[in-house]
Amino acid sequence: MNYNKAEFYTSFGKFSQIPKSDRLEFAFSGRSNVGKSSLINKLLNRKNLARVSSMPGKTVTINFFSVENIYIVDLPGYGYASVSKSEKRQWGSLIGGYLDDGSRQLALVFQLVDMRHPPSKDDLMMINYLIDAEIPFIIVFTKADKLKPNARKARMEAFKTEIPCFEDITCVEFSAITGEGVDELRAIIDDISEG
Ligand code: GDP
Repeated sequence: MNYNKAEFYTSFGKFSQIPKSDRLEFAFSGRSNVGKSSLINKLLNRKNLARVSSMPGKTVTINFFSVENIYIVDLPGYGYASVSKSEKRQWGSLIGGYLDDGSRQLALVFQLVDMRHPPSKDDLMMINYLIDAEIPFIIVFTKADKLKPNARKARMEAFKTEIPCFEDITCVEFSAITGEGVDELRAIIDDISEG
């Protein structure tokens, strides 16, 4: 896949607006501020394709990026305490609608978890949802550069007990700063989309 060919396709605020598609889709999920935009920019080799937030609380949208014959799908970030009830509802119906829509070719969900901390309640809810719905997913631990080697080892050890079914889940350690993990993510996407 030539990741330099990525383009912003469009944003949807309502599930009903998302057109049907025959393309394979790779979706990225995580709490706000986990580093999802930074990861997508790194993956697609662009500085500012996905908007990196300096401020919490972006509008609740699903953003599609087109790369050759696949879509990269940026799911709305979750977990901001300050969001209103109506925003939470919108988030729920958007993400639930998307993930439950059996007609899409959802190839894989990349579930992002900040490597510095135990998974949040919402992270665990997402992971359990993906397991229960039998949606294929991997976990990407973000901001790896922020941990010293020993702390990093300790977190990876702790995740074994903090995350359900950990031994069955493929994990990638990632940093948008150093680029660690980006080749692994591309290889995973290439394997599925070209295989
Ligand atoms: P999003 O809300 O999940 O899209 O997160 P962003 O990509 O906007 O990142 C949130 C903040 O974390 C920004 O200040 C980023 O610069 C920072 N950040 C994201 N990824 C990394 C990373 O891999 N390493 C470091 N050190 N900071 C990161």
